Amino acid sequence: METSFVLDLPRKGVPVEARRTLAWKGGAELETRLAPETNAPDDPVLRLSGTYRFETVVECARCLGDVQVTVERTFETRLDLAHETSEAMDLEAGEEPATFVRLPEERIDLTAEIVARLELAIPEIVLCSPDCKGLCPVCGANRNTDGCGHAPVPRMVETESLKGA
Ligand SMILES: [Zn+2]
Ligand SMILES: [Zn+2]
Repeated sequence: METSFVLDLPRKGVPVEARRTLAWKGGAELETRLAPETNAPDDPVLRLSGTYRFETVVECARCLGDVQVTVERTFETRLDLAHETSEAMDLEAGEEPATFVRLPEERIDLTAEIVARLELAIPEIVLCSPDCKGLCPVCGANRNTDGCGHAPVPRMVETESLKGA
């Protein structure tokens, strides 16, 4: 496993492909391709594309229990070597500029870019099961496992009190 994600720059237009495991939350598998955007061998605009896959544990939104999730995504972004950052570029709507650091010997450090993508890909709302019963609003017991005996709060009542607030 690697702690940073560093690639060689494509030389004379030849794409650089890499398959690595980044030491992040138990390991994120990455498959990437870094290539000039056009056919010009000296194009300073590069396109980074690829896939990543990782496993992590998040809290169930209802019962707060641990849920193991597997995240798998594809991505694509642009890097403008001439401007050191992509901010000066005319980016397509919704496309975020990539973050990178030029290193000596024609190499580029994309760790910050990749880690930011991985962080954002962690799902915020996950349920341990579609019919998770959640926590008892009276005593806080996990209603999937503990039969505390309190009556469930009807959905109608919750909606009415929200409207009045
Ligand atoms: Zn749950
Ligand atoms: Zn209860």
